[in-house]
Amino acid sequence: MKNTNPDMRSYEQLAKENADLQQRLEVAEECIRAIRGGEVDALVVQDERDPANKLTVMRIVAEEILAQSILEQVADAVVVCNSEGIIERASKAVSNLYHAVPLGKHFEDVFSLFVPSTNNVRQPVTFAVLASQENIRNYEVVLAGTHSESFHFLLNARVLRSVDDQPVKLVITLTDISENKKSEAILREADRRKDEFLATLAHELRNPIAPLQNALSLITLPQTSPAIRERAHEIMRRQLLQMKRLVDDLLDVSRITRNRIELDKNILSLAQIIENAVETVTPLIKERSHKLLINLPAETVNLEADMVRLSQVFANVLNNAAKYTSPGGEIRVDAVIAENMLTVTIRDNGIGIEGATLPRIFDLFVQADYSLERSFGGLGIGLTLVKNLVELHNGTIEVKSAGLGEGSEFIIRLPLAESSSALQESPKTPQERTTTSLKILVVDDNAASADTIGWLLEVIGHKPHILYDGSKLVEWALELRPDAILLDIGLPGKNGYDLCKELRTYPQLAKTLLIAQTGWGQEKDKSRALEAGFDHHLIKPFQLPQLQALLEKISQI
Ligand code: ADP
Repeated sequence: MKNTNPDMRSYEQLAKENADLQQRLEVAEECIRAIRGGEVDALVVQDERDPANKLTVMRIVAEEILAQSILEQVADAVVVCNSEGIIERASKAVSNLYHAVPLGKHFEDVFSLFVPSTNNVRQPVTFAVLASQENIRNYEVVLAGTHSESFHFLLNARVLRSVDDQPVKLVITLTDISENKKSEAILREADRRKDEFLATLAHELRNPIAPLQNALSLITLPQTSPAIRERAHEIMRRQLLQMKRLVDDLLDVSRITRNRIELDKNILSLAQIIENAVETVTPLIKERSHKLLINLPAETVNLEADMVRLSQVFANVLNNAAKYTSPGGEIRVDAVIAENMLTVTIRDNGIGIEGATLPRIFDLFVQADYSLERSFGGLGIGLTLVKNLVELHNGTIEVKSAGLGEGSEFIIRLPLAESSSALQESPKTPQERTTTSLKILVVDDNAASADTIGWLLEVIGHKPHILYDGSKLVEWALELRPDAILLDIGLPGKNGYDLCKELRTYPQLAKTLLIAQTGWGQEKDKSRALEAGFDHHLIKPFQLPQLQALLEKISQI
C-alpha cells in the first residue's frame, strides 16, 4: 500500500537525515576536541534558520585568559613547544631564567639541559629525546647557567595530540630544586663528618684502654717492683687524664652548640692566664723537646675574662702547636697592645696547614688528614671550642699558614679590661694538708664512684660510710650525725634536691655540711642546689683537693 501521509517520510529520507546528523555530530565533537586542545582561538557560527544567514564570531576568550594567567603566576618554568621544538608559550619564570623573550626560540637555545653526573662528562638532554616520550615524570636535569654555575631542576613533560592523534605540542615543566640540592649536600657533608667523628671518637676512647689495662695488671702482680709500680701509676694517671680531657671537650662542645656556656668573668692579668695555659701543656712540650718562647708586654695587661675558659683557649692552641710540630721545634707566644686591644700570636715551625683546609679549620670535627700526626689523638673539636670561647670574650681568632711544612700562626685578639686592677689569684692548693678525721656519708648510685671516693677519704684519714641509694639516708644521717654528706643528685627514687630539703628539716643535722655532687655544672644547677639547702656544689668528676678544701672548712670550725 502506498503511503499517502505527507508527514510520513520514506525510509531512504530518514536514513539520509540520520547520516547528515551523524556527520554534524562528528564535526561538533571535532570542534570540542580542538577547543580543548588549544588549537582554536575563535568559533564562527552560521545559523541556517536565520533568514539573513548571519555569521556569528565567538572568541574563546575565557580559556585564553585562564591559560595566560596560569602561565604568569606559576613559579615553575613552563613551556609549550610545537613539534619542531619552537617555544609557543612560556611562563614568566622562563623569561626570568633566560633574561630575554623565549617565544619563537628553539627549546634547546633557551634551555641547555644535561643529565646530572658526578664526573665532568656532560650528556645533553635534547628536545628530540623529550618529544620521543609520551609522558615524563620528575626527571632530574641540570641547567647550565650563563656563568659556571648550574641549577638543578625536576622535569615533567607531556605530549599533546591532535584529533587525528598526531603529536602537535609538548608541554614541559621545570621545577627548580637547586636549594633542596644545596641543603642535601650540606646534610650529606655533615653526616659524613659525623660518621668520621664517631669513628675517631671510638678510636680515641679505645686508645687509653690498653695501657690502662696493662698498668692495672702490673700493679696487681706481687712480683712488680716498686719502681715499675710507680711508673704504672703514672701511666694510669696520664691515660685517665687524656680520657677526661676528651669527655670534657665533648661536653663543652655540646654546651657550646646549644649556647649553654656561661662565663665567670673577672678582671685577670694576661700573665696569669698564659701561666695557667703553659702549665697544662708543659709536659707535652718537654716530652717533644720543643723550645717555648714567651714575650709578653712589660706592663700588666688586664682582661675581663673567665680564667678557666681563657686558659683553655691558650692551652688548646699551644697544645696543637706542640702536637703538630716535629720534636725539637720552636713555639713562640707574642703579645702586643694596640688601640685598646690585645693581640696574642702563637707561632710554631711545625707541619703547617694546607690552604684548602685553612677556611674550615675552626669548623666542628674538621681535622686535616696528615696520617702520621693522627697518632697524637684529638677529635677535631678543640679549635671549634677555642673560636667560640674567644668570641664569648668579644674577641676574634685568625689562622695563617704558608702551607704544608711552613708552620702555623694563630692570632687571638681580645679587648682590654676597662678597669685596671687584676684580681690576685689565690695561691694554688697546698700539696700537704693536715686533716682532722671526719665522719662522711657518701651517697651515690654509681657504686664504683661511691667506693673509690670512700677509699680516697679513708686514705686521707676520714671515716666514710657509703650508701648506694637515698632510701635509708635520713635514717643513717640521724643515727651517724655525719660531719658532711656528699650527696649525688640523680638518684633512683627521691632525687638529691628532695633528700637535701628533707635533711634540712632536722635540727640535729644543722651542723652537717651538705655537698651536692653532680654532672650538671651550669649556674642554674648550682643555684638549684643552694636553694634546696646544700652548702656546696661539686661538679663530677671532681679532684680530691676540691673536696679537701671544703672539708677543711669543717676542721677549722
Ligand atoms: P684535633 O687537634 O683534636 O684534631 P683541633 O680542632 O684542635 O682538633 O684542630 C683541628 C685540626 O687543625 C687538627 O686536626 C690539625 O689538622 C689542624 N691544626 C690545628 N693546629 C695546628 C697547628 N698548630 N699546626 C698544624 N695543624 C694544626
